[in-house]
Amino acid sequence: MRFAVFGQDRLGLVQGEEIVDVTASVPGPASPAGVLHRLIEAGDVPMPTDAVATHALSSVRLAAPLPRPPKIIAAPVNYRDHQAEMAAAHTIADLGVFLKAPSSVIGHGATVRLPYGDVRTDQEGELAVVIGRTARHVPVDRALEFVFGYCCALDITVRSTEDRSTRKSFDTFTPLGPWVVTADEVPDPRELTLRCWVDGELRQSARVDELIFGVAELIAYASSVMTLWPGDVLLTGTPAGVGPINDASSVAVQVDPIGRLEVLVSSESAVPYAARPRPEARS
Ligand code: MN
Repeated sequence: MRFAVFGQDRLGLVQGEEIVDVTASVPGPASPAGVLHRLIEAGDVPMPTDAVATHALSSVRLAAPLPRPPKIIAAPVNYRDHQAEMAAAHTIADLGVFLKAPSSVIGHGATVRLPYGDVRTDQEGELAVVIGRTARHVPVDRALEFVFGYCCALDITVRSTEDRSTRKSFDTFTPLGPWVVTADEVPDPRELTLRCWVDGELRQSARVDELIFGVAELIAYASSVMTLWPGDVLLTGTPAGVGPINDASSVAVQVDPIGRLEVLVSSESAVPYAARPRPEARS
């Protein structure tokens, strides 16, 4: 199943060029975490049946499938070729994972807002994993049982002096979408491929089986550090080809056969790095 969120927190099943509104099948009251999170929390994902209406996919405005995930856990340096391009001494095996602010999520068709006009900001195309149920100390060989599904992601990153979690947590810095494909349709995530374009130019191309920590290893490791909750999102890391994005750039990340996520970039609200809020220097 391909679950998309559209309009005002409507849940849709994407079927070809159509989207079937199954919001009425989802139990519980509305919450800021959104309708797909409610479905995941309900546990055994019920096959939604009460279709309200069917729309042409092209006629609806897609939103982030999980606008407020409990956590966004991300993998640093998880492809060898990206380690080489960053001249990084260490990989995820030494670095562990890091966190991004849940408030950084946007959906398909939304706009990434560059915070600084004079500091490079990069695109990182990534495969995202959505956790389906609470996971703690999960062994590698059972880790995929805890996956609800997969989507495309961008881990937008400022190359400033700020801490990693700051540089990656500005509002709009975690595009997710265009929808979530349930795990039953992805028996082996290593068979997925990832590509990322900026202004139509292919910058990144990789097979997910090139990951240093694969999806199962990443879940096992992360769950040894922190309890994973339903709706948590894991960003699996980016391959070589990271580069700057600028005002009016278009960025697309495509994970086959999951889908294609596209966003725009704006520097409209950017400020000089030196003008960011900070205490007055003391004399
Ligand atoms: Mn990344």
